[in-house]
Amino acid sequence: MTGGDFFKIKKWESSPDRILFLDIDGVLNSIRRATGLGQKAFSASGFDPISVSLMRQLVHRTEAQIVISSSWGKSIGKTPEWWIGLFAGYGWEYPQADVIGITPTCQGIRGNEIREWIRLYDIERGGLGADFKYVIIDDDPDFHDDQPLVLTDTRQGLTLDEVDRAVDLLGERHKLIFEEDSIKCIERIQIDKDWENNQLP
Ligand SMILES: [Mg+2]
Repeated sequence: MTGGDFFKIKKWESSPDRILFLDIDGVLNSIRRATGLGQKAFSASGFDPISVSLMRQLVHRTEAQIVISSSWGKSIGKTPEWWIGLFAGYGWEYPQADVIGITPTCQGIRGNEIREWIRLYDIERGGLGADFKYVIIDDDPDFHDDQPLVLTDTRQGLTLDEVDRAVDLLGERHKLIFEEDSIKCIERIQIDKDWENNQLP
């Protein structure tokens, strides 16, 4: 087994040294979304667009690269290119959706697979920089105590709270600016609509 089995060839020099280990079911998929679509199981076509949008925001804010840690990476999505194609279908395009690897299969808890990927990545790169940081986003706490996990709720998938926690762990490189006036404007439109519909008390 070599590191090449798990990495997409890319320009390591410009790598931002921020890795996001991404689970799929319970993160980009959710019971809320599947139920809303009338699906009995999670599917690649049923990702929650809000969760995907929040993931894009997280990647934008941190410049993180993605490693797929979901069991999907051992079945249908075995290459980074497959994931890049799938995410593009949700409007999340490469190079922002920069999937660089899939975790290997290891004995024991899933935390071991993350450790093994990082070990191989370290070898592949000839040493990780002092600034290397990673975060795991998963709805299952199947990790070691010293691994930085942001736990999601399978029912909801990724929410803004978890995005903010992951940004705190990875460090924020691009601030997301909320224009206060435009938010007020959106609130105003909603109130006007409610008023038109006689929904106000
Ligand atoms: Mg999951």
